[in-house]
Amino acid sequence: MQISGSIFPFFLLAFILVSGASSAADKNIDFLECLTLQFQKSNSESDSIYTPQNASYSSVLQSSIRNLRPASNSPRRPFVIITPEHESQIQAAIYCSKKHGIQLKVRSGGHDYEGLSYISETPFVIVDMRNLRSISIDTEKNTAWIQTGATLGELYYTIAEKSKTLAFTAGVCPTVGVGGHFSGGGYGMMSRKHGIAADHIIDAKLIDANGQIRDRESMGEDLFWAIRGGGGTSFGIVGCI
Ligand SMILES: Cc1cc2nc3c(=O)[nH]c(=O)nc-3n(C[C@H](O)[C@H](O)[C@H](O)COP(=O)(O)OP(=O)(O)OC[C@H]3O[C@@H](n4cnc5c(N)ncnc54)[C@H](O)[C@@H]3O)c2cc1C
Repeated sequence: MQISGSIFPFFLLAFILVSGASSAADKNIDFLECLTLQFQKSNSESDSIYTPQNASYSSVLQSSIRNLRPASNSPRRPFVIITPEHESQIQAAIYCSKKHGIQLKVRSGGHDYEGLSYISETPFVIVDMRNLRSISIDTEKNTAWIQTGATLGELYYTIAEKSKTLAFTAGVCPTVGVGGHFSGGGYGMMSRKHGIAADHIIDAKLIDANGQIRDRESMGEDLFWAIRGGGGTSFGIVGCI
């Protein structure tokens, strides 16, 4: 009697765990199917999608992680990493994560001290901006458009190639990403005189939770103010700035 009394709750518990795990797995599969379909609709290559079964998954995941502690203590890894090459792929990721209730993390340079761009306690996917890193500089107007997957080092290098007199005030570490850095502030060697990076942002393209691409005018001044210091990830995915 004592033995069967202790076995029964064990089976009950085991059933609940297995049942919960399979519904989470179903959600993940639904998300992946949704993403593949959306990519097909926009004629996108699905080689921008990495699952743990993909041979490059681990190297893509670890490539920009600067603080290994949060990653090694994290209970889970992303079940998909998306490396968009076009804004439509970001829109697809947002659409499918909303539809299937999956948490979406954005990563630019991966330098978040707490690993916020690549760890989570709930099932999640990463949109990694690594392939969106073009920098276009207008030396007549002294302005630039920078895709947020670029690093500070790439920005400084490109400015120096174009001009011996222009510069941009931002952080000192060349591998920090523009996406997290500019949307969080950006303090560096020139800040005493010129302020922080966010002070010099004059426009941005933000993809919001509905997948709409907003610029400064269409997002409004309040939101534009918020993404220059409040951290972009609370408001959408900053595509370029
Ligand atoms: C070695 C090192 C040196 C540093 N040096 C400086 C310095 O000199 N000056 C300074 O001010 N700071 C410095 N920092 C801090 C750094 O600026 C911040 O951690 C910054 O948020 C990192 O941006 P990231 O894109 O590299 O990081 P990520 O980890 O990719 O992102 C950081 C946060 O921003 C979000 N995010 C990233 N990209 C986007 C996007 N496109 N749209 C919306 N949200 C986005 C992420 O989800 C995450 O929450 C340094 C950090 C490290 C590790």
